[in-house]
Amino acid sequence: MPKKTVEDVAWQGKRALVRVDFNVPMDDARQITDDTRIRAALPTITYLSDRGARVILMSHLGRPKGEPNPKYSLRPVADHLASLIPDKRVSFCPEAVGEEAQKAVSALADGDILLLENVRFYPGEEKNDPAFARQLADLGDVFVNDAFGSAHRAHASTAGIAQYLPCVAGFLMEREVGIMGKALANPERPFVAIIGGAKVSDKIKVIENLLPKVDALIIGGGMANTFLAVEGHDMAKSLVEEDAKETARRLLDLARTSNRKLLLPVDVVAAKAFAPDAEHTVRLVSELQPDEMALDVGPASVEMFRNEILGAKTVIWNGPMGVFEMPAFAKGTFAIAQAMAEADATTIVGGGDSVAAVEQAGVADKMTHVSTGGGASLEFLEGRTLPGVAVIEDK
Ligand code: ADP
Ligand code: MG
Repeated sequence: MPKKTVEDVAWQGKRALVRVDFNVPMDDARQITDDTRIRAALPTITYLSDRGARVILMSHLGRPKGEPNPKYSLRPVADHLASLIPDKRVSFCPEAVGEEAQKAVSALADGDILLLENVRFYPGEEKNDPAFARQLADLGDVFVNDAFGSAHRAHASTAGIAQYLPCVAGFLMEREVGIMGKALANPERPFVAIIGGAKVSDKIKVIENLLPKVDALIIGGGMANTFLAVEGHDMAKSLVEEDAKETARRLLDLARTSNRKLLLPVDVVAAKAFAPDAEHTVRLVSELQPDEMALDVGPASVEMFRNEILGAKTVIWNGPMGVFEMPAFAKGTFAIAQAMAEADATTIVGGGDSVAAVEQAGVADKMTHVSTGGGASLEFLEGRTLPGVAVIEDK
């Protein structure tokens, strides 16, 4: 069911309490090294400000474990935010709740923006303590959840707070849930999913959820080895999860009985060591040598996967095709990114490493949607209801 958004509220003079995901990477000098997440929240922030709301922003940063720690202060983020929207008044409050926060909120004029200090400086945040949620709620009139990246956690600022305030989605949240939700519920077909990454065990639930919905499922990366082993191949020194073989067998059977196309690599880039400078050769899966391991999918597999992707109308990708951190084993992953960029389809990329790969390949802007939430997008693809999404009111 569609969710209420910021567009469903008359904002003039109202206090919009907005949960954003400003959990940005910083270097040792506390300089922000990647501001993607801050930029991703700008449409919601400027929309609210332009409509005369008093915008109060909440976020976490890092893992300060329930106590104040200057290393995880959001102050540098407030400064950066101010530099991104120079025509707005942006201030910072060194507390997230209590008297000082109350005062800072009272001082806001319509259109002003205030960033509160890291909510994880308080033990009540991660415990989803109702008293802490209540203190946060006291600062606003409407709760806007725009933190898709934190929506898989039931914390005070992502879920608990909705007990005390009406809750609507911000634009980023609306987009994440809308695009991925449509792909899962009502995709334009053919619908192709590509799953990779190191381990089957990380992705079992994603595969189980997607398999009945897709027209074709492509499996690559380290996890393909376990499937190939179950199919009878000797994967030699490759990463194979003995524990996951039963599951892999069950998923292969499920694909067969439900008539879903399931594509596995037919060739691989084989190396004698897990190292950037390891000697490497392309081999058919059936010709892997006893002292070799598969670290990327090979060109014939890429060609097969590419054709499937180019024929699709919806493509979801989670998990690299190989050890893309090492250039020698990145070709398969980058080729998939390239094929998705070329496809005349709704293309969605989710997962921390997959998103990094698409960015490295230089094609992030060619995708319909690059999810900002690593863990959250994975849980979404698993078909789970995210607590931070569940609290948003239906239209
Ligand atoms: P995401 O973060 O996109 O969900 P994962 O974390 O599941 O992706 O998987 C990414 C990791 O999988 C990368 O670090 C990559 O090196 C590793 N990987 C991919 N293919 C292989 C392989 N053949 N052998 C070992 N590791 C692999
Ligand atoms: Mg990862």
